[in-house]
Formats: sequence, C-alpha cells, structure tokens
Amino acid sequence: MTLKLYNTLSRKKEEFVPLQDKKVKMYACGPTVYSYPHIGNYRAYVFEDLLRRYLEYKDYDVTLIMNITDVDDKTIKASDGDKSKLLSITRRYEKAFKKGLSVLNVKNADEYPRATETIDEMVELIEELLKKKYAYKAEDGSLYFSIDKYPGYGKENLVHLNPDEMRAGERVSDDEYDKEGAHDFVLWKAWKEEDGDIYWETSLGKGRPGWHIECSAMSMKYLGEELDIHCGGVDNIFPHHENEIAQSEAASGKKFVKYWVHCAHLIYEGEKMSKSRGNIILLEDLIKKYSPEAIRLALLSTHYRSQLDLTDKKLKEAEGSIRKITDFMQTMERIRGEGRFVGPLSAGRPMELHKEFEEALEDDLNISEALSALYRTMRNANILKDEGDIGKEEAGQFLLELDHMNKVLGILPEKETEIDQSVYEMIRQREDARLAKDWALSDKIRDELFEMGYNLEDTPRGTLPKRRK
Ligand code: AMP
Ligand code: ZN
Repeated sequence: MTLKLYNTLSRKKEEFVPLQDKKVKMYACGPTVYSYPHIGNYRAYVFEDLLRRYLEYKDYDVTLIMNITDVDDKTIKASDGDKSKLLSITRRYEKAFKKGLSVLNVKNADEYPRATETIDEMVELIEELLKKKYAYKAEDGSLYFSIDKYPGYGKENLVHLNPDEMRAGERVSDDEYDKEGAHDFVLWKAWKEEDGDIYWETSLGKGRPGWHIECSAMSMKYLGEELDIHCGGVDNIFPHHENEIAQSEAASGKKFVKYWVHCAHLIYEGEKMSKSRGNIILLEDLIKKYSPEAIRLALLSTHYRSQLDLTDKKLKEAEGSIRKITDFMQTMERIRGEGRFVGPLSAGRPMELHKEFEEALEDDLNISEALSALYRTMRNANILKDEGDIGKEEAGQFLLELDHMNKVLGILPEKETEIDQSVYEMIRQREDARLAKDWALSDKIRDELFEMGYNLEDTPRGTLPKRRK
C-alpha cells in the first residue's frame, strides 16, 4: 500500500515517495507568538501531528521542524518597538503554545527554532540572493525580492495568478498582503523609528528580516535545501509559501519542497473567528467543558482539506466516542483477563479493522473513513460479546490493534491497553473476598491497586480498573 497525499503544487493526489528512502524531512509553519494561539491554529498543528504520526506508523524516520515566529510586523507592534518587551511577550505565548500542544497530545517537533536566533542564516540567504541578482536594495535601504527575475513566480507554483495581478517592480513592505498585491516582496526591512530598539546590525544594514525569509532560512538550516513535506494552513499558501519557494529556489537552484500539504480552516459554530467579532476561541475555553482527548478527536475527525465547523455538538459527540472506545477497551481487557474462551477464535475481525483503517489513511489521510471502520467494528464486536462470542485471544488482538491505531490517533492514554494481567487477577481475588464477606482483605487489595496506580470502577459489566490520572 502506498500513501497518497494531495499536493497543492500539482493540485492532485500523488503517491508519497520521499527524496531519500525511509527518511522524511518535514517542516510546518509554527505560531506567530504575539497572542494566545486559538483553536484554529491547533487544528493545523493536530493535522500536522496526524500526518507525522502516520508516516512514523509506516516506519518512516521523520524529522519535523516547526518554527517560532518571534519577530515580524505583528510581534513588533504588540511590543511597541521595545526589545525586552518583545522577548517577554513572545516567550510567554511560545510557552502557552507548547503547553497546548502537550494538552492535545501533539508529539514534539525535533526543533522549534526561533526567528530571532536564526538571523545569521537569514542574512546569509539574502546575501546569496543579492549575489545572484534576485534581490535589490530600495531607497530606504530595505532589500526586496524581484518577482520577475524568478520565472515560475505566481505562474506554475502554488498559485496561478493572472498577469494583471502581477506588479513586478512595485513593492510591498508588509509581511501579509493578498493576491491582488503580488509585488516584489521584502526580504530585509531597514530600521524605522517605530521598530524602536528591535533591530540587528548586519552586513545588510541595520534592520530586521521579513517574515517569508524566516521560514526559508529556518527550514534550510535544519533540513537542507530540499524538503519532502512543507505544511501549513491554507492562509499560508499566498503570499507566504509562494514567496518561500521563490527565494529558496532562487538561492539554491534546487526544488525546495516535493509535497506542499495545506489544511483548511477551522470555523466555530458556523462563523469565522476574528478579533472584531470577538469570537476567538482558545484551548483554555474548551478545556473547561471537554476532555483533551475529545477536543483532539473533534479536531481530527474532519478531513484536513475540508473546512471544520467546530460546534458544541461535535465536541459532545467526540466525548461520547472517546467514552465508547475506552468502554470497548475495558471490556476487551476484562475478557482477556478472565481467560475465558468461548466460540471460535476469529483473528479475522481485528485484522479486517487493521486493513480498513490503513486503507482509509493511505488515501490522503481519510480520517473519517478510518474512524468509521473503528466505530463499525466496535458496534459489531459489542453485539458479539453480548452473545459470548469473543474469546480471550480475539480480545487481546483487538487491544493490540487499538494500541497500534492509537499511535496514529493519539486519543487514548498510551499505556491504557497495557494493563497487566496481574491487575485483573487481583480484582478477581477481591471479588472472591467480597463474596466471602472478608472486607479487610477486599479493602487491602483495593489499597494495593490504588498504590499501583488504579482506581476501581463498578460498571454494569463488573469491576474494572481505571488508571489514575
Ligand atoms: P499564525 O500563528 O497565524 O502564523 O498561524 C499558525 C498556523 O495556524 C499556520 O499554519 C496557519 O495557517 C494556521 N491557522 C491560522 N488560522 C487557522 C484556522 N482558523 N484554522 C486552521 N488553521 C489556522
Ligand atoms: Zn512559515
């Protein structure tokens, strides 16, 4: 089986073949740390985590780099041109961003380089562009990339602009602008009064980098001139990623990225989140009402290329699904623990699930199909077990399968499926003690289990161990 990914570059699903055998060099645009990340940002990070985890599940050796944009127009504005304020603000939001990643069980990137700590590499890259005549200096000392020097710009890359939209020679100094303003873009911004003491004295003059060059320099520093995958939200496609391609390829003469993979946006209760609407939703808002697992599942459940309308209803459903999965796991643990063998061994069912799950994800990470396979299998298995038709071997295989799938989904506590058989044995001894009205022994066993990290829960299916958080 081969993974197919939709490549924004070709506008097609393509077979994923990395540049180098089993190694994958992956870069994802990280946060601009001038305010708390919102839940939309986390959709992008959770999607990137899904992709990374799936590649690892397929035994690729993935190196993931995610940058921290801690100097740009927005961060400078938020810190009123005060460098120490810039540092304290950006570190605070970087910390919040990383905390959110850990709440949502997003695996760490290999590095999170900060723009302010990669200035030398940016200067070097701009020097190279100057040398090759792709860059030029404007009257105010800022350096610009000349889009008509780079033949593919806006024509055969991520965007296909019509020639009327291309205003080569005209310049744009803002980091963000729209397609109608496809101008020469800034690489290095000469110091202005409002920048205060936020500047670097370099061979390019006194100033600071433009946003786009930051990502080219940071990705190339850690991954080299050719990357397998570059991700981000769809808002990054233009101008950010188009500019990254232009400047990186102009400097290196090599194809910068093989697969560009973009996720669609998240909206909340049918509305685009925006400061002016006052409907920016943070992870902290949701965590008060829902478990991290349910939030992660809700962010994951919609295919990454479809817009996700996150609603209260979806989050509640996700909570229900998490409950169903954990219940199912506990039932399988109980069956396995009881050592009961009833009915024929049917390794077929867990294997079938395994196949359906993988087939779905191979198709451009079709997560909704993959999850449906899981829900369908659980429904069927629950009926079978009520009829006493699932034996301990099959229960064990289901547990292994869930564990395996969870490496990709990351929605269950990783060790949940590894509850030791001795725990079930102790629960059985406690049951015997209770039947014999030996309360002292029953309490002793309960306390021992508590020490081992388990609470006991009385459920309609009997007493089950629950790992303490
Ligand atoms: P920023 O901090 O704005 O630079 O964004 C960080 C990441 O979040 C980028 O990959 C953006 O494309 C992505 N992003 C921003 N807003 C949303 C949204 N509403 N839904 C999904 N991704 C988003
Ligand atoms: Zn970027």
